[in-house]
Amino acid sequence: MLEERSAGAVLFRLQDREPIYLILHYHAGHWDFPKGNIEQGEDELSTVKREIREETCIDDVEFIQGFRRMVEYMYRRAGRLVHKVVVFYLAKTSKDEVKLSYEHNDYRWGRFDDALNLLTYNNSKIILRDADEFLRGILSS
Ligand code: ATP
Repeated sequence: MLEERSAGAVLFRLQDREPIYLILHYHAGHWDFPKGNIEQGEDELSTVKREIREETCIDDVEFIQGFRRMVEYMYRRAGRLVHKVVVFYLAKTSKDEVKLSYEHNDYRWGRFDDALNLLTYNNSKIILRDADEFLRGILSS
């Protein structure tokens, strides 16, 4: 079985103290957070920064300490089974302009409920719920 490791982020900006989350539309049809394969010798945070820059042109990512979650799933690529592990961080930007690369065909900035509805996979919805709760804890303190 093939093994794949990616890293990504629940990326948000604040609008009137309300988190607004970025969700991307993948060519395969699903909506998910920005993420991408960890290259050899690269640490997870560097992957996340690089992928966000490549996929959205956002380059001012600031990580929120203490949040790191994992999802895993299986899928088939050219008939072969792939076991994939994706680690997600929580990250803030001050930008709202997004310039997509060839890897995605659409994006949305959305408040928690809208972002939650948009996400295709339940494991990503769990990550967003968790991230939103974590963030509201920080923002209210
Ligand atoms: P990356 O962004 O890591 O470069 P990719 O665009 O090559 O990834 P994925 O987004 O992992 O690929 O999608 C590969 C396959 O896995 C697709 O068929 C997709 O529908 C499925 N998939 C993607 N995310 C999930 C998930 N969270 N849970 C289950 N299946 C998923």
